[in-house]
Amino acid sequence: MFSLDNLNQKEKQIYKAIITSNNKLKKDIMTELNLPKTTANRLLQSLINKNLIKEIGTDKSTGGRPPIIYGSKEDSFYIIGMDLARSYSEVIILNSSLKIIFNHKITMTETSTPESVINYLSSKIKEALNQLHINEDKILGMGIGTVGPVNIKTGILGNVTNFKNNSWSGADIKSLVSKHFSFPLFIGNGANMAALGEFHFNYNPLVQKVAYVNLGLGIRYGLVVNGKIIKNPNSKEDAFGHMTIKYDGDSCPCGNNGCLELYATIGGIEKIYKKYSNKDISLDLIVQNIKDEFKYTKADLSNTKFIEHMINYSEKTNNFSFKALNEGIRILSLGLNNFSNLINADRIVINGPLIQLDYIIYNLLCYHLKNIHNNGSVDSIYTTEGYFKENIISTGAAFTMLLNKLQL
Ligand SMILES: [Zn+2]
Repeated sequence: MFSLDNLNQKEKQIYKAIITSNNKLKKDIMTELNLPKTTANRLLQSLINKNLIKEIGTDKSTGGRPPIIYGSKEDSFYIIGMDLARSYSEVIILNSSLKIIFNHKITMTETSTPESVINYLSSKIKEALNQLHINEDKILGMGIGTVGPVNIKTGILGNVTNFKNNSWSGADIKSLVSKHFSFPLFIGNGANMAALGEFHFNYNPLVQKVAYVNLGLGIRYGLVVNGKIIKNPNSKEDAFGHMTIKYDGDSCPCGNNGCLELYATIGGIEKIYKKYSNKDISLDLIVQNIKDEFKYTKADLSNTKFIEHMINYSEKTNNFSFKALNEGIRILSLGLNNFSNLINADRIVINGPLIQLDYIIYNLLCYHLKNIHNNGSVDSIYTTEGYFKENIISTGAAFTMLLNKLQL
């Protein structure tokens, strides 16, 4: 098992600064960490000797020797990330420059039990480590992001909802994974881990409140303020999904009426479609119908007039596919606007299986957000292009494991 315990606190801070930006000048490190030059020289040399960083080039000279750019070494160690979710689950292997060198994703079905999913994904990791000639002693550990609620000490899931297989509530994730591996495991709420990764990797001192919202079969969110995860009471990450959005709306399994997740999820939009057409079809098919009808391009959808045309046309012609999608996404925009106003977020990253289905969904969401947003700052707050894009939870989990090992 690989360890970073031989680093002192200052070395850990420098290493983190380098690994999260992957190219740093000595003077930036000195400013960020408030270090005198002699100390910075000594610590950087120590990290080079410990085989964690290297000189990756030089910057433009302003007279004298050109300043050296430091970067992380790629093969010092490896970290594994696992994302256990309702629509899909995934494993990744990151090298020590935090680049994905392997990933494998599976769709979750009615037969996907915790045991079968974890056994399968673990076998995929073992296969990949073999093929890549990576010994287990080069592994720092594994970060596991799950749907909440999860007890991060015991690694046991609480009462989770919306899984297609019903044996996930109470599953002992930690025990199931540790049957396969001897390296350390770190378990957490996947949405929080994604927000934490996003905070550190797209680091901007003006962006201190970062939220991650994952839309799929349910709605998950994580919030990081000043680099710290803000935990929900009883780790109820589904609290946002149960925001009341229609006081006289449909009844929700949580006991209330008109919760956001009844409308703004994959299943929610499928139900809206059924309400109009009396037919059960999948959201994939609904989106395909819209593509066939409107034959849009990415450029069309950034044009407000084109979206208005789609809205008007589907009202007139009873194009239920677009009507249902539009209704679900409009309700989502209301929920997100409430959420954003409440927490006053600097950045909200939106991703997940619903968003990844087709770019029309994020474009439509931005259209509605802009219609209701009072200060017109939608483009500066909202993004779907986070640093790790569609692997945001698994990489966030692996990165959280690293931060934990660095005790930062
Ligand atoms: Zn509810």
